[in-house]
Amino acid sequence: MFYGAIEAGGTKFVCAVGNETGEILAKVTIPTLTPEETMPQVLEFFRQYNLQAIGIGSFGPVDLNRESPTYGSITTTPKLEWRNYPLLKTVQETLSLPVGFQTDVNAAALGELHYGAAKGLDSCLYLTVGTGIGGGAIVNGQVIQGLTHPEMGHIIVRRHPNDPYQGKCPYHKDCLEGLAAGPAIEERWGKKGIELAERKEVWELEAYYLAQALVQYILILSPKKIILGGGVMKQSQLFPLIRQNVQELLNGYVDLPEIDSYIVPPGLGDQAGIIGGLVLAHEAHRSSHS
Ligand code: ADP
Ligand code: ZN
Repeated sequence: MFYGAIEAGGTKFVCAVGNETGEILAKVTIPTLTPEETMPQVLEFFRQYNLQAIGIGSFGPVDLNRESPTYGSITTTPKLEWRNYPLLKTVQETLSLPVGFQTDVNAAALGELHYGAAKGLDSCLYLTVGTGIGGGAIVNGQVIQGLTHPEMGHIIVRRHPNDPYQGKCPYHKDCLEGLAAGPAIEERWGKKGIELAERKEVWELEAYYLAQALVQYILILSPKKIILGGGVMKQSQLFPLIRQNVQELLNGYVDLPEIDSYIVPPGLGDQAGIIGGLVLAHEAHRSSHS
């Protein structure tokens, strides 16, 4: 059986066809322009296949309330052309298929839980540190959702006493995302993250902020595995720095598993989100029969 998956991002839509074991058989990347330009190409790709269902992991914020008339729409995104765009509805109605829908990070967490670094567990946290910071968490096998999806990137962190940078979040200035996402690194240090690889102080400060966030997620959600993805985490020297800061901040209060296997990069690499889309498609297919 074939399933479709969409990883809808702010710069590109990755579309894939795969099977129920999470294997990807075909994939295309389509730039995120306006919905009028991007969506026909997305739909055209899937029309070539005989699919059972489609799963979407989308940039957000998105409406995940199944009771809402705008369920599956992108809501207050700064990308104005996509604001209030009914992504799920468009795919569902055009292709006449069951469609599963989640945030991009929830999809990545599902991918990692089923096939990646958290395989065999019933909880994990997936955090992306890229253009923004976002987290998806699964607890007791369920994606966490309440009023809306969590917005883990916008928590408040204790500022480093030697960091005068004002922060870049348009809503909160110096929340975690405002201090530690890729654009904040670039603005604070005057160069892109990738060009700062050799600057030790950059990554020490980055780990100082990310570790504080992880400690809060650990204390509140108690995930069995923490997976850190996104462009900024390509700086793999961050992992030991973050692990050390987390241990220092917790100071033995929580009995963590062995730290090197607790805070890890994605087992699926850059494919976590798209493979999570296949998991969502599979779930949508199953629930369409029940
Ligand atoms: P997005 O979040 O838009 O989906 P990414 O996860 O690739 O995309 O994040 C992009 C951000 O990550 C940019 O701010 C970029 O400068 C930063 N980034 C990408 N690659 C690296 C790298 N190798 N080292 C440090 N920063 C990086
Ligand atoms: Zn914020």
